[in-house]
Amino acid sequence: MKQSKLLIQTLRETPRDADVVSQQLMIRAGMIQKAAAGIYSYLPLAYRSIRKFEEIVREELGRDGCQELLMPSVLPAELWQESGRWTFYGDELLRFCDRKAKAEIAERRARGETPDERSFYNFCLGPTHEEVITDIVRKNVRSYKQLPMNLFQIQTKFRDERRPRFGLMRGREFTMKDGYSFHVDDADADREYWAMFNAYKRIFGRLGVKFRPVEADSGAIGGSFTHEFHVLAGSGEDAILSCDGCEYTSNSEKTEAPQLPVGSCGDRFELKRDHFCTPGVVGQVEQAAGMIDTEHPQGMALAQTSKFYLFQVSTAIAETHPAPGVEGTYSDVHYVGVVLRGDHEVNPVKVKNLLGANALDMVEINEAEAFTGAKSGFMGPIPGEGTRFANVRASVAILVDQSLKGAVNLTCGANRTDYHHFGLDPERDLKGCIFADLRMAQEGDTCPRCGKGRYQAFRGIEVGQVFKLGTKYSKSMGCTFLDDQGQEHPMVMGCYGIGITRTVAAAIEQNYDADGIIWPWPIAPYQVHLLSLDPGNAEVAAVADRVERELEAAGFEVLHDDREGMSPGAKFKDADLLGFPLRLMVGTKGLKDGVVELRDRRTKAVVKVKPEAAVAEVAAARDRIMQELETAGGR
Ligand code: ATP
Ligand code: MG
Repeated sequence: MKQSKLLIQTLRETPRDADVVSQQLMIRAGMIQKAAAGIYSYLPLAYRSIRKFEEIVREELGRDGCQELLMPSVLPAELWQESGRWTFYGDELLRFCDRKAKAEIAERRARGETPDERSFYNFCLGPTHEEVITDIVRKNVRSYKQLPMNLFQIQTKFRDERRPRFGLMRGREFTMKDGYSFHVDDADADREYWAMFNAYKRIFGRLGVKFRPVEADSGAIGGSFTHEFHVLAGSGEDAILSCDGCEYTSNSEKTEAPQLPVGSCGDRFELKRDHFCTPGVVGQVEQAAGMIDTEHPQGMALAQTSKFYLFQVSTAIAETHPAPGVEGTYSDVHYVGVVLRGDHEVNPVKVKNLLGANALDMVEINEAEAFTGAKSGFMGPIPGEGTRFANVRASVAILVDQSLKGAVNLTCGANRTDYHHFGLDPERDLKGCIFADLRMAQEGDTCPRCGKGRYQAFRGIEVGQVFKLGTKYSKSMGCTFLDDQGQEHPMVMGCYGIGITRTVAAAIEQNYDADGIIWPWPIAPYQVHLLSLDPGNAEVAAVADRVERELEAAGFEVLHDDREGMSPGAKFKDADLLGFPLRLMVGTKGLKDGVVELRDRRTKAVVKVKPEAAVAEVAAARDRIMQELETAGGR
């Protein structure tokens, strides 16, 4: 391919609204172009990489007998209503109505009515396809003899993300591989889960990126389990904790925190109300330092203070779930109070799962202040007299982090601005409270799985996820099969996603330097960048054209920079930016000595070879690079 004909415009300057390296480099290298927030065109170079990655995915899934199909991206509301997700999915689901529904709205308006347009939405753009695939399988598969079945597609998805950003990493429109499997029982679904887990290890291993499978949150659905696959990169949005003594690696949303020994706090006191007064001080650390009495002239240790969060569960959950530790359901308010040690952070996902809620929100500050009667920083689990909190305490669940089980003499917000109680003993003072693991585990914590190692922290980009779904969709949508006795059962399902476009961006996040991208060979848009340094010189042009033909004949993908009127320096800069693994340079000076130069993008090592030996040298370099990749990848 001649670069003079390629649709590409490179930029010297980093675009101002690009926040991460992959986004900056893909824009500078002329690979992507923004059409709207989170919606991009993939220009020819990017699309080549994307398609190469898709092929790797297809090959590896093919080895496991998965079948490819393609479902629509515009989906009817009815299917989503059947599964119940039409109500629960939230605003990421872009909903709209077709012309028939619009005509009906217009008709009603003409009759003087004011119809709610949203109730006429009858389609959405597919963010994921459990409903559609379940509909396909229930209509086409009847017998256990047809199972198991694993179906996948590679398709454009749409999610109306709250904050689309980072280019292809968090788009609103993006390409996903989504696969779904159907089984006669749990055991077979488990077998397939691990088959897909291993297929994902092969897929990301072939890319040559550093990645880790991590245990992840599966939400509140009991009996399900899931792993995410993360490419490790400093810019990753997810925090991962990995034990240095065993295999346990998990998303910090889910990481089990060890139960810490309770520090020595001396004899157990009575609760001393309003004992500490720290007017105007709201920070946890500053407050602890200011909690001074005769026995604590230096203030309190942070680990002896407690902090308090007020969460709110949705009405749907409040009406259907018993509130833990309180009588009946969340009758009056849907509030949940969470108490933690002052130096710990709350993990909202753990709280959410404990409650069986599918959404959980922090109570807004004004509302929380009105409820407790105190400013932020002085709220606590013991209601102040005459407050609304005191009136409804019996229906507010109080959850306490397990590290405070057995703790005594803690401080807590007094629900009176500027004051803290002292002497809190959660077991004694918080009637009906539930102890559980509710905090974020942190780097350095001892791993509760092996009891020996410590957690190390990494940042990761979630590029894939395998999920055992169980019968959630097959039950709600009636996707059943007949066993060998003619008995009907719901199929057991799994689902498996890979963010195709996000993975390509993540590979760049891990492979770049100050000059540009350093493509891993398997997804480089082209493998060899052939530079004619003086294309005006007939000999240079002739040798370059010949080498291009020979390389292509040998199966290499070559971009030939044949552009005229450009200095070698400018061509080098572009080549570094585009970052193909090998650069072959043909110039007047070299040819005088009878050589061309081959440069490795990653190591910057240069070798001089005769033009007729160029193909053999490129092949040797490829073999070396692929060997390095095999040892580097899959870690
Ligand atoms: P995230 O937590 O990052 O929002 P998710 O867990 O909601 O992702 P899944 O439903 O598991 O995403 O989708 C499968 C894969 O699709 C993800 O592992 C990720 O690689 C990719 N993906 C999800 N959302 C986006 C997005 N907005 N832009 C690009 N890729 C995405
Ligand atoms: Mg996911």
